Amino acid sequence: MISVPSYLTPLLALFASRGERAYPVGGCVRDTLMGIPPHDWDVAVTTHPHDTMAICHDAGYRTVPTGLKHGTVTVLVPLSGDPADRDGPYEMIECTTCRTEGGYTDGRHPDAVAFTGLIEDDLSRRDFTVNAMAFTQTDGKLAILDLFGGQEDLKNKVIRAVGDPDTRFTEDALRLMRSVRFAVKLGFTVEENTYAAICRRAEGLARISRERISDEFQKILTSPEPERGIQLLTDTGLLPYVLPHGISPMGIGDLSSLPADFTVRMACLLWEMDYDRVQENLAGLRLSNAVRKDILAIACSYIRTLRPDALCARQWRHALGENALPALAVRAARGDTAACELAELVKLSIEKNEPVRIADLDVNGTDLIALGFKPGRLLQDILCDLLEVVWNDPAKNTREELIKEALKRKD
Ligand code: ATP
Ligand code: MG
Repeated sequence: MISVPSYLTPLLALFASRGERAYPVGGCVRDTLMGIPPHDWDVAVTTHPHDTMAICHDAGYRTVPTGLKHGTVTVLVPLSGDPADRDGPYEMIECTTCRTEGGYTDGRHPDAVAFTGLIEDDLSRRDFTVNAMAFTQTDGKLAILDLFGGQEDLKNKVIRAVGDPDTRFTEDALRLMRSVRFAVKLGFTVEENTYAAICRRAEGLARISRERISDEFQKILTSPEPERGIQLLTDTGLLPYVLPHGISPMGIGDLSSLPADFTVRMACLLWEMDYDRVQENLAGLRLSNAVRKDILAIACSYIRTLRPDALCARQWRHALGENALPALAVRAARGDTAACELAELVKLSIEKNEPVRIADLDVNGTDLIALGFKPGRLLQDILCDLLEVVWNDPAKNTREELIKEALKRKD
């Protein structure tokens, strides 16, 4: 049984009552047919955007003209179903005019969109058959509009381009990345002709913005099948456009044993790689400084000695801070069994709130100066010595003990 959320029904009925149509379309249809609750509902409408706004507005809905140029109007649809409900919770539903897209001279954006108001046109411009289906409601009954064999491909778990794959990938090369993303997100294979076209058209990715490539890549890496995703990118020849220096010389690693977190999986992928190459790979992905630094710190932690003892746990916390546990998880995913033992000791050390930084010491520079130490390099060295004392024995982190230790080092 297929269904749409009850709050959507009045919106669909509204368009029908005006002699127009509104069709839930794309990802929400695919997910519903797969038995997965869709995270949002997109609607294709037969009206021009200004009419979409007028019709919704007259019925009491609030609307936002989010992308009139592309035909998109966001309608605030109250969950109560009453269009005029201003107090209760609502969903933001994107209602986009059925359109064709014409001419892709840059391989990224259509030169023109034409609002034809025909759902057939709108389904044909979509990327893959499983993404190119709509629900249509007639007399309260819901049916599937499937012009390209999307249901069959869903059943066979296949990603297949709508129409001629070479043309579709040349029009918009981001679809190359999207094919891999949907394959690993849904657990599907890429249909043979579509796959061959990806290999032939891979260099089209050079025209796509780094941000959009990065976005798709992050979804691939955090999918349930990151290893297969990287393998697909490698085999199709897409990987050099994503990571110019490729991946770790040690291969892909056990990525799916790690949480679905981009930072740790990326660090695992770049494990034991030359520092400059890691940096250049990351620069191309336009990440935030914080994420980039975390990945670098974790990916480069392979050089640290690792012994499963309490002192080593404190040293790892000191050197890596918040990244200590993620770094050990990556190390375990790279086959180092002692990393799991050390991770337990790091957790224990965090629980006990053990001192691991100079700032955690029970004395500071000012205290030592008051004792007659001169500010400067020597003072820093003494604080480092005191930290080592405390690393070896956290019980020694008391003013009394540390002053005693400091005085031993005076002159
Ligand atoms: P997700 O659940 O990951 O959001 P989705 O199918 O909703 O999956 P979106 O990227 O949100 O994916 O796109 C919504 C729909 O728009 C797709 O299902 C597809 O029909 C269409 N679409 C999006 N991007 C493209 C594109 N580059 N070329 C053709 N069709 C596209
Ligand atoms: Mg979506």
